[in-house]
Amino acid sequence: MKRTILIHPDPRLKKVCAPVSDLTDALRTLADDMLETMYDAPGIGLAAPQIGVLERLIVLDCVKEEGETPRPLIMFNPQVIASSEETNVYEEGCLSIPDQYAEVTRPKVVDVTWMDEKGNQRQETFDGLWATCVQHEIDHLNGKLFIDYLKPLKRQMITRKMQKLKRERARA
Ligand SMILES: [Zn+2]
Repeated sequence: MKRTILIHPDPRLKKVCAPVSDLTDALRTLADDMLETMYDAPGIGLAAPQIGVLERLIVLDCVKEEGETPRPLIMFNPQVIASSEETNVYEEGCLSIPDQYAEVTRPKVVDVTWMDEKGNQRQETFDGLWATCVQHEIDHLNGKLFIDYLKPLKRQMITRKMQKLKRERARA
């Protein structure tokens, strides 16, 4: 089932999310809903707080080439355990901040641990777009948005645009 994506500014997007302790069917369904919502948007990552659920769960799939096999990843309690000194700059966007993009500098390579949808503990090294995306999504679980990396003026400009967008949507 597709869920509604919250638009910034929203207090739920600023919260630190709670760790998942037990994998329940409800959580697996939630993860599937998040993947469906993400692909439909379309986007390459989505975090639970973006649909108003304040738990540490993200989904991502950074395979973008037409004809390539999708690689959906579901991560409960994801954690960056090591990051490279080398950095990468990507023009980031966010499904909660539609049509706004800005360059963000992050570590180029990160080691991430998480629990998958079967309850297995996993670890993997991510590089390039995957690394940027997984860091962006984990930030969401700590109430942090990509615009928090920007200069205050740019951030305020984007936030005002989003407030206007929300007013327009509320009227529609
Ligand atoms: Zn985002």
